[in-house]
Amino acid sequence: MVKAVVGANWGDEGKGKITDMMAADADIIVRFQGGANAGHTIVNNYGKFALHTLPSGVFYNHTTSIIGNGVALNIPVLFNEIKSIEEKGVPAPHILVSDRAQIVMPYHILFDQYEEERLGKASFGSTKSGIAPFYSDKYAKIGYQVQELFDEELLKEKVVRTCEQKNVLLEHLYHKPLLQPEDLLKTLHEYRDMIAPYVCDTSAYLWNALKENKTILLEGQLGTLKDPDHGIYPMVTSSSTLAPYGCIGAGIPAQELKQVVTVCKAYSSAVGAGAFVSEIFGDEADELRRRGGDGGEFGATTGRPRRMGWFDCVASKYGCRMQGTTDVAFTVVDVLGYLDEIPVCVGYEIDGEVTTDFPVTSKLEKAKPVLKTLPGWKTDIRGIKKYEDLPENCRNYIEFIEKEIGFPITMVSNGPGREDIIYR
Ligand code: GDP
Repeated sequence: MVKAVVGANWGDEGKGKITDMMAADADIIVRFQGGANAGHTIVNNYGKFALHTLPSGVFYNHTTSIIGNGVALNIPVLFNEIKSIEEKGVPAPHILVSDRAQIVMPYHILFDQYEEERLGKASFGSTKSGIAPFYSDKYAKIGYQVQELFDEELLKEKVVRTCEQKNVLLEHLYHKPLLQPEDLLKTLHEYRDMIAPYVCDTSAYLWNALKENKTILLEGQLGTLKDPDHGIYPMVTSSSTLAPYGCIGAGIPAQELKQVVTVCKAYSSAVGAGAFVSEIFGDEADELRRRGGDGGEFGATTGRPRRMGWFDCVASKYGCRMQGTTDVAFTVVDVLGYLDEIPVCVGYEIDGEVTTDFPVTSKLEKAKPVLKTLPGWKTDIRGIKKYEDLPENCRNYIEFIEKEIGFPITMVSNGPGREDIIYR
């Protein structure tokens, strides 16, 4: 059976923790999209980890971790991550990398930087990890698949073509140093040697696992609102963040996906540019940012402060719908325990009309939040194990949001640890 853990919003909902928790009962965990541009933060008995490329299941010795074909594979980042977890005493994880995954090249990272530089104020707030140039090349059919690393003839010829094409832009658009085919070939040889032990026909591996009734967990990166089709285009990421895409990015039949756990955070945060209707500013935002997550709402990859806001029912209802949600995991509820009152965004006012349907970007830019204020619970709820033991106002908050979004909240997370979870 296949399950997915995905985000309803802008990312950073706490998917890493939920995946880490659900991985206890899984055999295989697969990353199916995205690259090293976002990170998951995981706290467990080995310590605190920020993973960018490795699936969150690497801390268990009963699981296999797969980098699926849909991922933007940064080979040195993967290599260093494996090294760093082993250094902290985690037993060597079983990792497989799809032979059809494509490789983030050093020039993708350069192009990402150069383009943001060129755009200046109009930039996307990219993490400059090369993800957009990578996916552009993938769909322009000039990317490098892992299997190509093992075809020397092809590589020798392809690096020349790549340099010809990239150097036009480097010279005339960006005015930067040019690429040399022999340097590129050398890099690709290094990549080949680093990745060789892990390469596998992962879709065949997963197919066999399904026949043996294994449990496969698909781990999404970012959330619905960053999906290139259904998100806040163009302030989106470059690969689909939706659970159904997980089947494509892993190479498994779509009808095998039986459970979609969509992670929603009890308040909102976002990174990068783009409309964020329930955003808050000033001291109010600073306090929530400081208290948020586990040690503050700062990017796991970049360390930059996240934009903060109240829970957005309009965005989350849409976010859950597009994922095909069967279960909502509602996270970081403990953080709200300091507030007397908690505003929640229940509608968008656009040109004088109120809607609860998430609009296209041009309308979203004009939306003003319609807020409803709920009473806070003013206590620390960490350590509580049973839903009935939560303060009444906390349960009311959860149940109000469940009704607004229209999907069942079956898990409530009240702390960063694996055991900080309340099942309903
Ligand atoms: P992801 O990218 O969706 O995995 O999200 P992040 O890595 O940004 O996770 C959000 C942060 O919240 C991490 O630092 C987690 O350790 C932390 N976290 C997750 N769930 C909870 C929770 O229920 N309570 C608290 N206080 N922190 C949590």
